[in-house]
Amino acid sequence: MTGAGAIRAVLFDVDDTLVDTRGAFRHALASVAVDYLDEGVDHEELVRFWREDRQGWYRAHTRGELTHREQRHRRANDLHEEFGGPFLDDAAYQRWDDAFERYFQEGWAAHPDALPALEALDALGVPYGGLSNARSDYQVTKLAACGLGRLPMLVGVDTLGFGKPDPRVFLHACERLGFAPAEVAYVGDEFDVDPLGARDAGLGLGVWIERPGAHRGDVDGLAGDGVPRDGLVRIDTLMELPGVLGL
Ligand SMILES: [Mg+2]
Repeated sequence: MTGAGAIRAVLFDVDDTLVDTRGAFRHALASVAVDYLDEGVDHEELVRFWREDRQGWYRAHTRGELTHREQRHRRANDLHEEFGGPFLDDAAYQRWDDAFERYFQEGWAAHPDALPALEALDALGVPYGGLSNARSDYQVTKLAACGLGRLPMLVGVDTLGFGKPDPRVFLHACERLGFAPAEVAYVGDEFDVDPLGARDAGLGLGVWIERPGAHRGDVDGLAGDGVPRDGLVRIDTLMELPGVLGL
């Protein structure tokens, strides 16, 4: 049983689902470009490269294999190697990250559809919570800065020591929310890690919010379009949520 009628609660990914994290990275990488990289480097290219994370360092972090600092240090050096920046040893990386993190946080903002979607769920009396592959306390700070402090962070990568798409984190989040997995929909922007991971963990519905520039692999057709199929559905805006959840 999936889709209409079965769903009673919602779990949300945070980055690039509720928060425009891509925009914040672009802001931080633009400052890196000025201080470290080849002149005239295209900032969109930087964001694409950063998010693509070809070596999979962030995913290694979500498997508990690298600390957050280790993965970001490696990604910084990958970025520099690609776009003409110097190699960063530990001390140089610390200075790099002090600036990067300051600009990243300065760029934090909610997607325009995030607050209205949470308000719509509030009005319907539907409980929700956050399940993210970043640290819980960091996400609480980020959500508050974006005016989304009403979302309780239930599970972060630090909660169990690993993250999505491991099914155990989805099940743990459902337990914290107080609902059986089949009663819960999961909403996220990374097709494999978010909706597919949730569906495969046994949640009632995996909702893929397709944010511009957030593609990961060719998933066309797998998640349908606005109509749940095989436990998956694709939406273009979070305002479609109550409709696709049958609420
Ligand atoms: Mg995300």
